[in-house]
Amino acid sequence: MSTQDLPELLEANKRWAAKTEAREPGFFSRLLQQQTPQYLWIGCADSRVPANELVDLMPGELFVHRNVANVVVHSDLNCLSVMQFAVDHLKVKHIIVVGHSNCGGVRAALTDARVGLVSNWIRHVQDVRNDHQEWLDSLPEESRVNALCELNVLEQARNACQTTVVQDAWLRGQEIVVHGWVYGLHNGLLEDLQITAASQDDVAPAYRRALAAVKSRYA
Ligand SMILES: [Zn+2]
Repeated sequence: MSTQDLPELLEANKRWAAKTEAREPGFFSRLLQQQTPQYLWIGCADSRVPANELVDLMPGELFVHRNVANVVVHSDLNCLSVMQFAVDHLKVKHIIVVGHSNCGGVRAALTDARVGLVSNWIRHVQDVRNDHQEWLDSLPEESRVNALCELNVLEQARNACQTTVVQDAWLRGQEIVVHGWVYGLHNGLLEDLQITAASQDDVAPAYRRALAAVKSRYA
């Protein structure tokens, strides 16, 4: 096998599969039957934020969608399809929108950096920035990226609540709770931004409370 074939990754995979099977005999054949994850993770594509590892969950336990800057857009068929499959078929109980500190996508959005095609994508984060421009401008420059990372989580979690997928689930009485978290690259810890919504009635007050909490933390 030449090095072009990525032998180091394929070898590492063999070791991981053997270790997993040794620890839990029958692990893979059980997963073959079905997956029953309780959680849908919507996070950033950043390589430093690997969903399963951060919450110590095994294959089969976390359904995952990731994109640059963890954006939930109402016309994004990719994200919506993942959400619909997770909610309607897998019956996940929780959707967790997870941002992270020092997000490159958020930084580019904040500073109007032109970074190619992805500039169109993070236009959605710039909309969040524009909504809070005055407040962001009032912060010390070094705090602005992380503050916008948190505002973006609140906005995208609210977007998740407003999708037809979640709205329909709530209407038919299906239990589904939407959360917004932020991950600290500097300490490896997840923080709950408390925009937790378990029904349509929760959304507006949860957003208001979470926004006030973000603002008071950066004040
Ligand atoms: Zn990121």
